[in-house]
Amino acid sequence: MNNLEKLRNIGIIAHIDAGKTTTTERILYLTGRIHRMGNVDDGNTTTDYMDQERERGITIVSAATAFDWNGFRVNLIDTPGHVDFTAEVERSLRVLDGVVIVVCGVAGVQPQTETVWRQADKYSVPRIISVNKMDRVGANLENAIQTIREKLGANPIPMQVPIGVEDGFRGVVDVISDIAYIWGDDTDGTDFVITEVPEEFRDTVDLTKSQLIEALAETDEDALSIFIEKGTLTKDQIMHFLRRACIKGLLVPVVCTSAYKYKGMQPLLTAITDYMPSPLDIPPVKGINPATKEEVERKHDPSEPLCALVFKVVTDKYLGTLSYVRVYSGELCTATHITNATTGKKERVMRCLHLFADHREDVPKLVAGDIGGVLGLKNSHTGNTLHDPSKPISLEQVNFPDPVISETVEPKTRQELDKVVKVLNNYAMEDPTFTFHTDDESGEMVISGMGELHLDIIVTRMKLDHDLDVRTGQPRVAYKETISKVVKTKGRYVKQTGGKGQYGDVTLKVYPTEEKDMPFEINVGQDKIPEIYHKHIKLGVEDALVSGTILGYPVIGIGVEVIDGSFHEVDSSVIAFRQAASIATRDALKKADPMLLEPIMRLQVVVPDEYLGDVMAGLNKRRCKVQSVDLQGKSQVISAHAPLSEMFGYATYLRSATQGRGTYTMEFLKMKIMPPDIMEKVVLSVRGVPWQQH
Ligand code: GDP
Repeated sequence: MNNLEKLRNIGIIAHIDAGKTTTTERILYLTGRIHRMGNVDDGNTTTDYMDQERERGITIVSAATAFDWNGFRVNLIDTPGHVDFTAEVERSLRVLDGVVIVVCGVAGVQPQTETVWRQADKYSVPRIISVNKMDRVGANLENAIQTIREKLGANPIPMQVPIGVEDGFRGVVDVISDIAYIWGDDTDGTDFVITEVPEEFRDTVDLTKSQLIEALAETDEDALSIFIEKGTLTKDQIMHFLRRACIKGLLVPVVCTSAYKYKGMQPLLTAITDYMPSPLDIPPVKGINPATKEEVERKHDPSEPLCALVFKVVTDKYLGTLSYVRVYSGELCTATHITNATTGKKERVMRCLHLFADHREDVPKLVAGDIGGVLGLKNSHTGNTLHDPSKPISLEQVNFPDPVISETVEPKTRQELDKVVKVLNNYAMEDPTFTFHTDDESGEMVISGMGELHLDIIVTRMKLDHDLDVRTGQPRVAYKETISKVVKTKGRYVKQTGGKGQYGDVTLKVYPTEEKDMPFEINVGQDKIPEIYHKHIKLGVEDALVSGTILGYPVIGIGVEVIDGSFHEVDSSVIAFRQAASIATRDALKKADPMLLEPIMRLQVVVPDEYLGDVMAGLNKRRCKVQSVDLQGKSQVISAHAPLSEMFGYATYLRSATQGRGTYTMEFLKMKIMPPDIMEKVVLSVRGVPWQQH
C-alpha cells in the first residue's frame, strides 16, 4: 500500500456485549472478507467465550486483519473484548490511528467504555462512536449521546438521524449528504436503497445539520469565517472541517447502527474512511536513542530509516512464530536482516505478510504506515522496536501490570509434562500479562494472570488447541509486600580467618515510596565505599526484595539510601558488599512494619432492581467499597472496588442470589495495603501461626 492517504489503521472497542464482535463480523462480511455469518449468543462462561472466539476463527483471534472499502485499505487491529485484558487494549491503542467505540443504544456509556476512553485520551487517539442496538427496546440516541457527554466529557456530534427506532429502526439519514439509507428486513445488509429524506424527518434533519455546522464553527476558526460570511457550509466543507475536528479530538462523530440486523453498517464504513486519520495525519512517532537516551522522532515516511514495533507475537501451528508489526517509518523487507533495538540482537526477516480474515498474502515488504505479519523473528517480543542500527530508535515500552492471581497446574500424565511446559512458555511469550514458572521449593508448575477467567481461558486453550489436560489447584491471590516506616539498618558481611577474607559493610536508610522504580542513592564518599561496589550494593538490595518477610511475596514501594559503610583494602569484594546490602535490607524489612498489599479490582455488577439489597449486602461482606449505584432501565448498575481475595466464587454466588439474572465484570485497578486484621488472618491461614510469632 503505497498511498498512505488511503490507509486507515483502526480498532473497534466496546463494553462487553455492546456489539463489537457483531460489528466486526458485519464489516468483514460486507467488505467481502468473510463469507459466512454466525450470530453471537449471550454467555459468560469460559467455554462460551472460547467457542465464540473459535467460531470466528482468524477474524477475532488474529491481532490484525485488513479489508478494503471505497478504494481505501483499512487495517483492523484487534482490541480484546474482555476486561481481564485492559493491558492488551493499551498495547493495541498504541499501534492504531483511530478507534470506533461501539456504545449500546439502550445502556449508553458503560464502565469499560469509560476506561477505554481514558486510555484513548492518553494516546490521543481520534474516535468515532457507533450507537449500536438501535433496534432494541429502549434504544434512544439522545440518551446515549447524553451519557457520552456526561460520563466521558466528550463532544459527540451526531451526523445521522435514525429512521424509526426499536423494532421500527429501518435506516438512517446522513445529514451531511442529505440522503436516506433504508435497509430491507431479513437481509444480510446488502439490500438497501439510497433515497430522499422522508418528509416527516425533514425538521429533525435540518436541526441536526445546523447543530453540526455550529459545532464546527465553534471548534474551527476557518469554519467560523466561512460560516460568518456565507451563513452555512457546503457538504465538502462540512466533511473537511469535521475530519479535522475529529482528528484533533475536538469532536466525536456519531453514527447509528443495528449490527445485529445489518443496518447502518455501510455508512459506518464510510465514516471510518472519511473521518479517521491516515498515518500522514498523525504526529511523528517519538522514541529514544537507546545508547544516548536522547529523544528522536520519525516521520511516517517510507524513505526514512526503519522503525517498527512488534505489538503481538503468536505461535501459529503451521507458520511457527508470527510477529505482528506496525511499521512507522522506512521499510521492512523480506529476506533481510534487521536489528531489534530493545535487545540489540540481529534478526532475520524470512517473510512479510498482509493478513486478511480469509487468507494471508506474501508481500515483498511492509512499508511505513503498514500493519502486517513477519515470519522468522526468533527473539523479538511484544513491545520490542525493530530499527536500522545506523539510525537508532527505541519506542517507549508499554508497562503491563504484574499478574494478580496464580494457580498450580499439573499434567494428567507424566508424558505430557514437556509438552505442557512448551505450550505454557509459548502462551507467556504471546501474552505479557500471563506468566509461567516452576516453584523452586515445591517443584510445582504455577501459572499467573490477570483474573480467574484469564487463567481459565489458558487452561481451556491447552485442551482445545493441544489436547492437553491439566489439573489445576485453587486460584491464589498474588500479594505483594511493602513497608510502612523509615528505618536505618546496618549490614556486615565479614569473614577474616586467615588468607583472603570477605569484608562488606553498609548502613542503609530504607523508606516507603510511591515510586514504581526503586529510588536508590549512595550518599557516602569513595573513602568509605569505592564506586566499584555501588552497583553491587543495589543488586544486594534487589536480591532481598524478591521475597518479603511476611509471606515471601515480592517487596515493592521502597526506596533506599546508603548512608554509611566501610571497606577493607584486601578483603573487600563485590560479593561481600552484595551480601552486606542484602543482610541490611532484610533486617530493614523486618523492622519497618511490613504490610501485605492486595490487588483491588474495579467491579461492576448489573442486577434487576429487586435484588439490589441482597447484592449490596453481599458486597459489604466481601469488603467491597461501593462507588456508585445507577439505575439503567430496569437494572441497577453497581460500581465498586473489590479486594480480589474476596471475589473467588462470586460468579456462583451472584447466579444463585439473582436467579441467574445478575452479571458482573471485573478488572485489576491497583494494589492496596491490606487492613491489619485481614493480614493477620491471611498469615495465620498460610503459616499456621500468627504474624507476630513467626
Ligand atoms: P461484544 O461483547 O461487544 O463483542 O458483543 P457481541 O457482538 O458479542 O454482542 C453481544 C450480544 O448482543 C449478542 O447476543 C448479539 O447478538 C447482540 N447484539 C449485537 N449487536 C446488536 C444489535 O445491533 N441489536 C441487537 N438487538 N442485538 C445486538
